[in-house]
Amino acid sequence: MQKIPLSNPDITDIEKQKVLDVLNTPNLSLGPELPEFEKAFASYVGTKYAVAVNSGTSGLHLCVKSLGIKDGDCVFTTPFSFIASANCLLFERAIPIFVDIDEKIFNIDVDKLESAILKAKNEGKRIKAILPVHVFGRPCAIDAIKNLADEFKLSIIEDACEAIGAEYLSSNGNWKKTGTFGKAAVFAFYPNKQMTTGEGGMIVTDDENIYKLCRSLRNQGRGDGGGWLQHERLGYNYRLSNINCALGLAQLQRIEEMLDKRTKVAELYNEKLKKINEIILPQKEDNKKISWFVYVIRLTDSYSQKDRDFILDELRKEGIGCSNYFTPIHLQPFYQNTFSYKYGDFPITEKISERTIALPFYNNLSESQIDVVVQALRNALNKIQSGQDPTTR
Ligand SMILES: *Cc1c(COP(=O)(O)O)cnc(C)c1O
Repeated sequence: MQKIPLSNPDITDIEKQKVLDVLNTPNLSLGPELPEFEKAFASYVGTKYAVAVNSGTSGLHLCVKSLGIKDGDCVFTTPFSFIASANCLLFERAIPIFVDIDEKIFNIDVDKLESAILKAKNEGKRIKAILPVHVFGRPCAIDAIKNLADEFKLSIIEDACEAIGAEYLSSNGNWKKTGTFGKAAVFAFYPNKQMTTGEGGMIVTDDENIYKLCRSLRNQGRGDGGGWLQHERLGYNYRLSNINCALGLAQLQRIEEMLDKRTKVAELYNEKLKKINEIILPQKEDNKKISWFVYVIRLTDSYSQKDRDFILDELRKEGIGCSNYFTPIHLQPFYQNTFSYKYGDFPITEKISERTIALPFYNNLSESQIDVVVQALRNALNKIQSGQDPTTR
């Protein structure tokens, strides 16, 4: 039995009522809650437009498609992410070019990005875009990525699925939210994210063409003026129902409160874990505000993947939810089989992936629950040190 889950959505009675209100109308889809949610979301992030879709993955797919990325086009992204950030390229038969991550922040390493771009260019590849991921709610090195995109005429699609409300201090001295620096960006609302609609996602952009195209593509390729059975292009059913939109709108209205709660939980963890020498805590950066999606610690390099897996097992035995965010994308069976990737291709991603532990993390995680988690972690580490770990058994 799980005593403390890994994540836990925070839904108020008011939010439940908003969902019921929709169920009491005949408009379960394409009703007024859809544009209301989109408008409120665009205004929160600071973009001109927003297009709600039924998942973050659908949103990423439509961004790729609406930017005209197609068969054989190359897009730079990282293997340390949730699989959707690379799959969305494969949907259009584009080619992900993986770039390893920065060891401290787990986001794309901009020096390696530059080398990868130069290499692909020299090889005559059709390079089209950069798809950076704001992993765990931490903004990427945004200015550096923008500079490279400008220099090599690449579009940027931000995978901001884990980073609603995260901010970075841009070189001109303004704090800006993630989701505002790419051609388009995508957020996601699966139940473990900072805010949820059950399932759902949101594309944001300042580009009117992308906006119009994404609206059409999510709705079976229908045009704005045409009828219900008029289809101008190959489209999809990626619509988000009004039931989900109502929940999303209500969640968005208290996003600051929710992000504050998460920051407090993260700070409590930081405080209670700082004396444990065997682990590395999430790193601080002056020019960034993390939107806490998950709380991920990392074992120091002297520990192995076996040690990490032992700790995960020990925590689970105590009823504590935990996970190994992420298994590298290039080592997923489908990617290994399709692209012949092998262990060793992206050493930093591999080293980090083998040693991360995502601890229980959600808005209403209490201090006493955190104490239970921290104690269980200490116990597991002690077992390893006293020789009860899998490498010596
Ligand atoms: C959650 C997430 C997505 C989108 O996931 P969906 O389940 O399709 O909403 C995409 N990229 C990253 C990095 C994510 O964490």
